[in-house]
Formats: sequence, C-alpha cells, structure tokens
Amino acid sequence: MSAVIEVTGLRKAYGSNEVIKGIDLEVRSGEVVSLIGPSGSGKSTILRCLNQLETATSGKIVVDGFDLTDKKVDINEVRRHIGMVFQHFNLFPNMSVIENIMLAPVETGKKSKADARTQAQALLERVGLADKADARPSQLSGGQKQRVAIARALAMEPKIMLFDEATSALDPEMVGEVLEVIRELAKSGMTMVLVTHEMGFAREVCDRVVFLSDGVICEQGAPAEVFGNPQQPRTKEFLSKVL
Ligand code: ADP
Ligand code: MG
Repeated sequence: MSAVIEVTGLRKAYGSNEVIKGIDLEVRSGEVVSLIGPSGSGKSTILRCLNQLETATSGKIVVDGFDLTDKKVDINEVRRHIGMVFQHFNLFPNMSVIENIMLAPVETGKKSKADARTQAQALLERVGLADKADARPSQLSGGQKQRVAIARALAMEPKIMLFDEATSALDPEMVGEVLEVIRELAKSGMTMVLVTHEMGFAREVCDRVVFLSDGVICEQGAPAEVFGNPQQPRTKEFLSKVL
C-alpha cells in the first residue's frame, strides 16, 4: 500500500521552545494510526502541522502526493483532502445542522446546493442523525454535535481524517456513540490519524499505535505489542497511569 502521509524529520519550535524534535512518520492508505502520549508531548502539534494550521520549522511533509513544504503547493487545495475533527466541535451556531454540513462543499464550488443537500442528508444518516437536519447545534447533545462535526468534515470527501481528542470534551455516556462513528469510518477504509485517550478503542480499532514523549516517537507498533508488551520505560510508565 502506498503512503498517504509521509513525514520526514519534522521539527517545530515555538520561539526557542522546540516541541517536535525530529519525527518520521508514514501512514499508508487505509491505515488507522493513533498518537498517544502525555499531555504536552506534541500530539496536537503534529496533527496541526499535517493540515498546515501550523508551519513546520523544518522537515518534510508529503500528504496525498503534495509536498507541503513546497511554496508552490496550494495549501487550501491540500486542506480539502484532509478532514479534521477537534475536541470542541466549532459548529456554526446560527445555521441549521444540514447547512453546517453543506457549507464547505458549496462555498468552495465543489457541489451545487442541491447536490450538497443530498449528500449532507446521506451523511446525517451515516452518523445516525437523519432526523436532525433542521435542528440548530444548540439543540443537540455534545455527542450529536460531534457527529455533525464528523459529517461536516466528510462532506469535503477527504482522503484523510485527523481526530484530535474528539471525545475528550464529552460526557461519558456520549463517548460511545462518537467512537462508533469513528469505528465505522475505519472499517470503510478511511485513512486516519487519531489522538485519543481512549486506550481500549485505540487497541481495538487502530492498526498502529505511536507513543510520543517530549516531541519524539518513543515507541510504535501494533496495538497488541505496544499495549501488551511495551519496551521503553517511558511507554511503560505512561501506560501504567492510563490503563
Ligand atoms: P499535546 O497535544 O500532546 O498535549 P501539544 O502539541 O498541544 O501537546 O503541545 C506541545 C507543546 O507545545 C506544549 O509544551 C505546548 O505548551 C506547546 N505549544 C502548543 N501550542 C503552542 C503555541 N501556539 N505557542 C506556544 N507553545 C505551544
Ligand atoms: Mg493535544
């Protein structure tokens, strides 16, 4: 399988504080990779570099064949191939659910309004919210909002989905319904990188687990290996606190 994401020697500093210290990471088509590690280890920064919310200090990032460090590459074009879901859903409060989902495909000229509506309705069905098309975000639970946020990201038909702690802000009883949608996406063959604290979920759904510590990849491998038989002291220490 070919690499959809190829990160080589990624470094990122904020001022004099280097927080990503030389990361190499390859994600193949259809692969589901989870980034785990202590708070502040650089997980979010890596995702943000992948869709260019942050600019790397050095290193190379190739996403779907586009070299993000190449000045000639249209970053907005690249971003359209990458869906991102955050901890906080950031839905537009003054639009209905279906309008939230239709917005990007219509604004970018990717779809007509009619086509975008048909697609949005299908996406709402996919995330189990077919009956919420005309609701306002404020009328939804946290879990429902997050499912709308996922549908909205999918509306651009991304090749890659990035999730940054998509369930961390949810009440416990709503975590499952969002993980279920992510699990379905994984089954459908979507290439995904997820930052998650749901270790059970990572173990079950991901093809590979990458443990970050202090801006470097400390250890990675199949979930059964990393969770079941961690090799590095830092991995062991981290897992002993979260498992
Ligand atoms: P994680 O997601 O693993 O918790 P982050 O990638 O958010 O870690 O942060 C890694 C480090 O970078 C932390 O020390 C954090 O304080 C720092 N950092 C993140 N974003 C910024 C920023 N915009 N400006 C300065 N420092 C930042
Ligand atoms: Mg983070």
